[in-house]
Amino acid sequence: SSYHNVLEENRLLYNQVQDLKGTIRVFCRVRPFLQGQSNGQSTVDYIGENGNIMIVNPQKQGKDARRVFTFDKVFGTNVTQEQIYADTQPLIRSVLDGYNVCIFAYGQTGSGKTYTMSGPDLTTEETWGVNYRALRDLFRISKARMDVIEYEVGVQMIEIYNEQVRDLLVIHGNIRNNSQLNGLNVPDASLVPVKCTKDVLDLMKIGQRNRAVGATALNERSSRSHSILTIHVRGKELVSGSTLKGCLHLVDLAGSERVDKSEAVGERLKEAQHINRSLSALGDVISALAQNSSHVPYRNSKLTQVLQDSLGGHAKTLMFVHINPEVNSIGETISTLKFAERVATIDLGAAQSNK
Ligand code: ADP
Repeated sequence: SSYHNVLEENRLLYNQVQDLKGTIRVFCRVRPFLQGQSNGQSTVDYIGENGNIMIVNPQKQGKDARRVFTFDKVFGTNVTQEQIYADTQPLIRSVLDGYNVCIFAYGQTGSGKTYTMSGPDLTTEETWGVNYRALRDLFRISKARMDVIEYEVGVQMIEIYNEQVRDLLVIHGNIRNNSQLNGLNVPDASLVPVKCTKDVLDLMKIGQRNRAVGATALNERSSRSHSILTIHVRGKELVSGSTLKGCLHLVDLAGSERVDKSEAVGERLKEAQHINRSLSALGDVISALAQNSSHVPYRNSKLTQVLQDSLGGHAKTLMFVHINPEVNSIGETISTLKFAERVATIDLGAAQSNK
């Protein structure tokens, strides 16, 4: 019966979720050289088994020139969108079982964050990013469980720019909120009920349009603000009447590039300072969680405040860090990987026994 199917599915899911060691995982993705770019020297020397990546810095000599970083997984330039999603899918399913999940895209502007999260082209499913695949799965699985659990789904979309939160789903000035579903620490952000993937895609278009308002160019604005798409689910078990709540936050972070202090002035400098501060606050929170620290500094940025309920506790975090292989990005590449290394869960036992 479908009830037994769901139980079996839950058992498999439980095993998969247990397999994901720790609650914080870091995946590194290397984007290929783009058409028209020299296919010359790459700063990625090799990608090994077990999540190792070796970076070579052409500006340095001898043993200082190479450095190995280790993450949960490293995806090379030939990895498809489908393969990327396959490793993300267990987390998406767990949302329907009542987990809170955060997926972050981190990296300098142009390193492939949008490519991973949204994909380059919505018209071909093959290139769909994590966002669309996740939505499709959420609705597909909730439908398959229909006889057992009744789900309600709602969407929020906000932007954080210069430490200010903006609701991107205000439609004709209407704030719609169903506080029972709220899992984002933003009082009154619109929360719109949805029934299918298309409903969400339509809302995302509205969000994108709202995001562009007031910005000189969408690309510029989107690289300097964080955007959060949150999918809330509430399930009611039909037999027992018990309920569960979960949410999925898909977070496209502002570009992590450092701004040359001597060049940035005025607005640009202010933006850069806000971005730096919030990204390092995020790093501090995740690394405090990874180390089971008793104090987690959520209050140091809007980003970490807004996501507080979904960072730590039983929540699960996945961070995709993106690098590009160009030689002139070596500085950003190394600082991105150092950031990622700081937030990656370190299994001290394993690290020591390797020595
Ligand atoms: P970001 O969002 O970090 O600014 P984008 O996702 O816009 O970066 O990527 C920059 C460019 O590189 C885009 O033209 C994008 O299509 C391309 N690109 C990024 N990642 C990949 C990839 N894995 N495979 C092919 N092209 C990619």
